[in-house]
Amino acid sequence: MSSTATDTLAKQSSEEGEIAGGHSAATELTDGFHLIIDALKLNDIDTIYGVPGIPITDFGRLAQAEGMRVISFRHEQHAGNAAAIAGYLTQKPGICLTVSAPGFLNGLTALANATTNCFPMILISGSSEREIVDLQQGDYEEMDQLAIAKPLCKAAFRILHAEDIGIGIARAIRAACSGRPGGVYLDLPAKLFGQTMDATAGEKSLIKVVDPAPRQLPAPDAVARAIDVLKGARRPLIILGKGAAYARADEEIRALVEKSGIPYLPMSMAKGLLPDDHPQSAGAARSLVLKEADVVVMIGARLNWLLSHGKGKTWGDQPKQFIQIDIEPKEMDSNVEIAAPLVGDIGSCVSALLESMGDGWTAPPADWTGAIDAKKETNLARMAPKLQNNNVPMDFHGALGALRRIIKERPDAILVNEGANTLDFARSIIDMYQPRKRLDVGTWGVMGIGMGFAIAAAVETGKPVLAVEGDSAFGFSGMEIETICRYNLPVCVVVFNNNGIYRGTDVNPTGGPDVATTVFVKDSRYDKMMEAFGGIGVYATTPDELSRAVNEAMESGRPTLVNAVIDENAGTESGRIGNLNPQSAVSKK
Ligand code: ADP
Ligand code: MG
Repeated sequence: MSSTATDTLAKQSSEEGEIAGGHSAATELTDGFHLIIDALKLNDIDTIYGVPGIPITDFGRLAQAEGMRVISFRHEQHAGNAAAIAGYLTQKPGICLTVSAPGFLNGLTALANATTNCFPMILISGSSEREIVDLQQGDYEEMDQLAIAKPLCKAAFRILHAEDIGIGIARAIRAACSGRPGGVYLDLPAKLFGQTMDATAGEKSLIKVVDPAPRQLPAPDAVARAIDVLKGARRPLIILGKGAAYARADEEIRALVEKSGIPYLPMSMAKGLLPDDHPQSAGAARSLVLKEADVVVMIGARLNWLLSHGKGKTWGDQPKQFIQIDIEPKEMDSNVEIAAPLVGDIGSCVSALLESMGDGWTAPPADWTGAIDAKKETNLARMAPKLQNNNVPMDFHGALGALRRIIKERPDAILVNEGANTLDFARSIIDMYQPRKRLDVGTWGVMGIGMGFAIAAAVETGKPVLAVEGDSAFGFSGMEIETICRYNLPVCVVVFNNNGIYRGTDVNPTGGPDVATTVFVKDSRYDKMMEAFGGIGVYATTPDELSRAVNEAMESGRPTLVNAVIDENAGTESGRIGNLNPQSAVSKK
């Protein structure tokens, strides 16, 4: 506890003692507010993302007074998304702080999304009086928050007594970070904050969590089995997922890829773990390698919908064996049979594989790697001219070609990306060169992460952030550009404005006065929103204008929003996942 806070409380307690009769020895007191702050700081947690209000307003103030960075948002969902991605970027749980009931509910989408994506975060919400809530007597913002949070996160705890704060925070940190990371809910009833206790006892009750994410070594026989399967491969493939990026085993992974000579495919957020222009990247031959591979090594990636569940047309008829590295044993066989499960942390598992491979590892057959190289060359050659086009209005390729060149020149910038077409095209067009630089919609494909992710990326890394947003996606978190301006963060938002969801050309089939359900105000000026808060707004109609504006923003670090005018005919329904959007075949009269 800081000396100022302790002094104030000690003074208070002695004054009270004097009023009560003047004979009590002044015991130093601490309280719930300070114990929570001290417990977080003791565990090297220095940043809180939240929205102030009852009953946590003073908590936020005190945390700031005690030297924590407290970033206030306009809506809890974005504070939650910021906390989640801060967790991904730092391996420490990101903290989101909200008020009770409605604020808590607003934070839940982010908590559930963090859990789904395996990002460590802790949602801390104030809550109303337990006695009244449990008897359902109608308290201010009455809600049984703990019960509601439980199914949406990895673990949920409530702390009722000041002396339990140390344990409560320690449990929350461990639950968030250990094993498969995820979201944790921590319920703090209003009464807890003001509870006092002896300061020395309070300090002793706090816990500095030792080794919050312990390494988990794979069993030697599991390693041997994996090596056996790998040795039998004629067309091996490595798939890197965001778990691999999160694990920060960058060197080991590079060594495994290069020593084995096996082509690899990065999942979206694993792009840059090895540079996308690495000769072994099969990114530009994705369809081919998924269909033709005979042994697939999954490293921190799941066989969920993003990989067509490991079966069907995407994977072709070629029989396949899977080796899967994951810290979560239950992940194995979740979609298809895993021939060689390797359960443990990625760093330890990859090191064990490297060691067992020995020195004389034979590279994959040349007909396999040759076929991949040929396919890559054809695909890249076909793409190149599209990325140079100067069409006005811009299409996705022309605009993204410009941004691709910027990221190539600034590989340490962080790219945030969401939308439908804007997401799909940017993912394949913009190459990444460094680990953990691409942040996007993740496992759910959720819209609305944009500004929250961008803010946390800037706060946590201090690097310039480029957020490439569909106009629809931007709308979910757009108000947070005020937050970006308020903290003067080096964020450049590019809104791909094609007047609507998917595209801006739909019409109301009834001919009635309402516009179609997917259409927005034509030629909206998102750039003026940024100007309203003191940031820089740019209206860009050509790839050159777009380039210039983004380069200037990255150079100056000033909050910037570029309204990039995109041809309203350019998008397709749901981007590349239109197959997931059921369409009625029945036409009614
Ligand atoms: P992607 O969407 O990129 O394919 P997923 O989020 O589906 O990636 O998969 C990430 C996987 O990584 C999860 O199954 C998670 O359990 C695993 N994981 C996360 N951190 C580690 C780690 N340190 N060691 C091993 N596995 C991890
Ligand atoms: Mg759009």
